[in-house]
Amino acid sequence: MPILFFKKSGNSWICGVSEVPEAQLVCTVCGYNMVGYSPEHCPFCGASKEKFLTSEECSARYSVVETPVTDHVSRLNSTPRLGLEHTAYRIRTHNKTYMIDCPSCFDPDVTGMDTILFTHFHFLGSSNQYREHFSANVWINTADSRFELCKGFPFDRTFEEGFEVDGIEAYHLDGHTPGFTCYFFEDVFFLCDYVFKSMRFNPYGPRDRTIEGGHRIRGLIEGSRLSTVCAVDYVMDFNEWVQGFDRLLDTFTG
Ligand SMILES: [Zn+2]
Ligand SMILES: [Zn+2]
Repeated sequence: MPILFFKKSGNSWICGVSEVPEAQLVCTVCGYNMVGYSPEHCPFCGASKEKFLTSEECSARYSVVETPVTDHVSRLNSTPRLGLEHTAYRIRTHNKTYMIDCPSCFDPDVTGMDTILFTHFHFLGSSNQYREHFSANVWINTADSRFELCKGFPFDRTFEEGFEVDGIEAYHLDGHTPGFTCYFFEDVFFLCDYVFKSMRFNPYGPRDRTIEGGHRIRGLIEGSRLSTVCAVDYVMDFNEWVQGFDRLLDTFTG
């Protein structure tokens, strides 16, 4: 948005026009951040613009609260709850701090992170602001990086396959989104919204490919020594989770 400015130069005033970036807006229904544009409706959930806050208003009304999950993993949620925001998780490896996914509210008082790893492109939160504030790197699967909803969100690295970094293992699942990636660290499994707490697959995606991704998950967890599942809005004991997950998979086989 162009703004007119006046400034003193010696004994005279100069007048000019400068560009300031459009405000960042946050949809309070779903938590989606609109970076540098002001639509009538939220591009993610369709809520009208009366439901939007500027990022500054959002940061004033909400804060990000961190709750420990294990010795090296904690969960991060905007508080009070910010629409459909997906839970983000912090991982402390031996020398670095990672975030899996990102809160919708920008809270500069959270502990900084080196890298933000995304499971998929649906909830990029205010990752552009955390990236800027903490000089963090943002990674996402290439296939997910191309969606229109990624507009305004810089990515520092895109990947097509799984990878391993500082003890965090990433596996490409496809399914719910084409670039959907799940992560493992120590005895914790991160799978965001691939499987809901009600033990249903996420229905927002191609059904057959989502089920195929479910079988890939089964292969990945086979014989593992996991203790905890960290997901979209729940943290669950792995043994309890896997019982429900196997029942879910059974409904699609034989
Ligand atoms: Zn929305
Ligand atoms: Zn999703």
